[in-house]
Amino acid sequence: MKHTQLARVRRGRKLNRQLAEGYPDAHCELDFTTPLELLIATVLSAQCTDVRVNSVTPTLFQRYPTAAAYATANIEELQEIIRPTGFYKAKAQHLIGIGQILMADYDGDVPTDLDALVRLPGVGRKTAHVVRGNAFDIPGLTVDTHFGRLVRRFALTDSEDPVVVERELAVIIPPADWTIFSHRIIFHGRRICHSRKPACAACYLAPMCPSSKTGEQDPIQALRMMKAEPAEKDHLVSLLN
Ligand code: SF4
Repeated sequence: MKHTQLARVRRGRKLNRQLAEGYPDAHCELDFTTPLELLIATVLSAQCTDVRVNSVTPTLFQRYPTAAAYATANIEELQEIIRPTGFYKAKAQHLIGIGQILMADYDGDVPTDLDALVRLPGVGRKTAHVVRGNAFDIPGLTVDTHFGRLVRRFALTDSEDPVVVERELAVIIPPADWTIFSHRIIFHGRRICHSRKPACAACYLAPMCPSSKTGEQDPIQALRMMKAEPAEKDHLVSLLN
């Protein structure tokens, strides 16, 4: 089916409003108190769950409270702390490299500039937007594979290229909502619109979703597939027509 730009804009904005209703508490699920902590946690979250990252960061942040501490870290000790997050050898090198660049070029501070952030080791556009959006309040669309999957299911884009997805969604979603829209999309993907098989028959967004026939159609089975705390599940079920 052909989706006109006008139809995409209307669907995208309606989707944003309905996601806000379903996930009024959507937020960054990584624990942090400073821009440096968020930068480090987001680098560690590559190929890893936020829950697992949050399990190692209390020790990590206490042991390495500044960019200088990462810059001069003992790599074996650092690897040992972050090992549960996977790919720990590469990630340890990234953290040390980040510390060294922050010390050399930014007085130990995290820059806010997108181009400066993506030059840091282990930092792509998604990570840069997570840091800018959540630590500095600069709106950004955090496009990763999950975000891309959902917006393609909603036919808001056809592209598999994260840069193109970001550019096309930036026209549809108002800039002030870019960061929170990203959180809402990620919340929905984790709870209902799963990658392998979405729980369509338990999805309150199905009436407006062009992909609603591609997932689980049995309501009981679909409800079982929902991954949400009981109160949140009750709320999402209450939104079903
Ligand atoms: S209807 Fe299905 S494909 Fe569409 S958002 Fe809901 S779970 Fe995802």
